[in-house]
Amino acid sequence: MRNYFIAGNWKMHKTVSESVALAKDLVAKLGDCNEKLMIAPAFTALAAVSEAVKGSKILLGAQNMGPEEQGAHTGEVSVFMLKDLGVKVVILGHSERRHSYHESDELINKKVRLALQHGLEVILCVGETLEEREGGRLETVCKTQVEKGLAGVAAAELGKVTIAYEPVWAIGTGKTATPEDADAVHAYIRKVLAGLYGESSAKAMCIQYGGSVKADNAAQLMQKPNIDGALVGGASLKPETFVPIAKFR
Ligand code: PEP
Repeated sequence: MRNYFIAGNWKMHKTVSESVALAKDLVAKLGDCNEKLMIAPAFTALAAVSEAVKGSKILLGAQNMGPEEQGAHTGEVSVFMLKDLGVKVVILGHSERRHSYHESDELINKKVRLALQHGLEVILCVGETLEEREGGRLETVCKTQVEKGLAGVAAAELGKVTIAYEPVWAIGTGKTATPEDADAVHAYIRKVLAGLYGESSAKAMCIQYGGSVKADNAAQLMQKPNIDGALVGGASLKPETFVPIAKFR
């Protein structure tokens, strides 16, 4: 049976104690869930949440990472610091980083390669804005973000890479791509991956959907052949909304 990867991105929400309480609740409620699971609290809560998820099946994720190993980079958090706290997965190229903080494909690629070089798993987010979609540029945007994001990444490293297709217009808006629409873009991304790495590598890759995933649309999305999991924002902040997504089947 196919295994899905369900990840929660807590963004800039929750104090340390709130994060620990949520993590402990999820550990208790998701012990019997068979999917691959990850939660990404804010940097400030990573150490405490790391303790809370220790010994459970929930992987600790980070929401971002600096592009350098160490040095004079005020405000950045390095790959070594994340690993030191037990982080296993890092979300890179989220549309909020691309659009609000002007992260380029080149910068994101530098982070992707650095994370992989040091053994972290990567969730590389890609996706078009509404303007790009309406202007007929959906495929070009996704292709460019995948190709540039993975530049220099070897086929042997792909087991540690997940692509998250997150149409920007669906993030935090309550608007979800229809399962058919999302699956079509996932199929296209898989075609791009096949062009880069060959059919069998592309087939084996995990492509998550993200954008207003909720308990009532998760199962329909996940039934689609090219949707291998979900990256969840808003609905990952409460057990009553995240647990049913993780247990969608
Ligand atoms: C996200 O930010 O990755 C996301 C998908 O958010 P939401 O689920 O709130 O749309």
